[in-house]
Order: sequence, then C-alpha cells, then structure tokens
Amino acid sequence: MRIVLLGAPGSGKGTQSQWLVGRFHIPQVSTGDLLRAAVAKGTALGVQAREAMDAGRLVADQIVLGMIRERLGEPDIRGGFILDGFPRNLAQARALDQLLAQIGQPLDAVVQLNVDYGELSRRIAGRRTCSDCGRVVNLLTSSPQALERELCPKTGQPHRLFQRPDDNEATVAERLRVYEAQTRPLVDYYRGQGLLRSIDAEGDVTEVSVRLEQALKG
Ligand code: AMP
Repeated sequence: MRIVLLGAPGSGKGTQSQWLVGRFHIPQVSTGDLLRAAVAKGTALGVQAREAMDAGRLVADQIVLGMIRERLGEPDIRGGFILDGFPRNLAQARALDQLLAQIGQPLDAVVQLNVDYGELSRRIAGRRTCSDCGRVVNLLTSSPQALERELCPKTGQPHRLFQRPDDNEATVAERLRVYEAQTRPLVDYYRGQGLLRSIDAEGDVTEVSVRLEQALKG
C-alpha cells in the first residue's frame, strides 16, 4: 500500500504513521525526520535546511526532492510506504507523481487528517520527543505517571523528552500559515485524481486509527 498522509502540523500524521507501520509493515517516510537527521549530523544539506525549519518555512523543493528520490530508491520501499509530511506543495506533488510513475508504483490513497485550528495549537504545545528513540508523546494526553513508567527501548530508562525547537508559538503560527497557503491546495489536487479520503482526526488516538483504516479500505 502506498499512502500519503496529508494534514496540518499537529494533525497526527506522525502518530498515525507509526500505527500504520505496525499494522501494514511498511516504512514511514517523514521528510521532517530526514531533515532533522541531516541537521543533527551537520551535513551541508542540514545546514541549508535549518534556517527555513527554524523559521517555520518550507525547505527548498530541490533539497527535499533529492532526499525523497534517494529514500524511495531503497529496497524496503518495494512493499509500499507511508509518506508523512511530503508532498507539501504542488511542485512536490507533481514531482512525486513523476517519480512514482517512473518506478511503476503509483499512490493508492491520500488521507487528509482534519483537526480544528485550536486543537492543533494545543497538541503542538504539549508535544515532546524522546531524544534517544524518537518516540513522540503528548503531555496533555499522557499522564506523568504513565510517561515515567514507559521505558525507552534504546536505553531501558525513562524517555528523555525534549520539545522540538520549531514547536514554539511564533514558529507554529508560521507553519500553520504555510500549511494553509501551500499545502492545503493539495486536497483539491488529489481529489481531482480520485485519491482523496478525508477523516475526522480529533479525539482518541485509537479511534482515529480505526477511522484511518476504514478510509483506506473504502
Ligand atoms: P514536520 O516534522 O513534518 O512538521 O516538518 C518540520 C519542518 O521540516 C517543516 O516545518 C519544514 O521546515 C521542513 N519540512 C518537512 N517536510 C518538508 C517538505 N516536504 N517540504 C519542505 N519542507 C519540509
């Protein structure tokens, strides 16, 4: 199954991708994760990407498309994939169509995760990531006791949680603005291709996963 998850920052693309990985045994391809890894390594590409990321803007298409081309060329992609955070504008969507046509692996579905603006801001404010295993948790929905009990699979200790630098209020406002201006037009683009499914992505995470699975069957 070849899927794109489409949604604003905080709509749950990462969380639901992780669930899909377990359910369908296909890899999650997150351009945000690939870019953060490049930034952490201090590669030339990471240095270039960092400024845009810190400001909440999109990283240049040329950089992102290069990374995606490389990732989608890897062998584990042959059984399908989940694209999380890509494409983010029309130029990327068209480039993806071309790339997938070349490798004979067109998309099966694009699922739009719908979450109200106020809820997005609230979720992002509570979002934390484990610096060792990369697990993403939310302080608003997980109790502190549950978080302390859950051990990091990498260290065997409680997760070491940090807040993403671009999850601060000013950058989040810019990321939401960029989503509206550049990414939302993809809804019509994929509707035109007959690939779009839309789900209500508010409420309990497990219930959203159930809706997602139903949308993929439909
Ligand atoms: P995310 O983890 O998907 O929220 O992405 C974090 C940041 O990485 C975004 O705010 C952008 O600066 C950058 N980014 C991620 N994916 C893309 C993409 N497909 N195109 C351009 N920039 C991206």
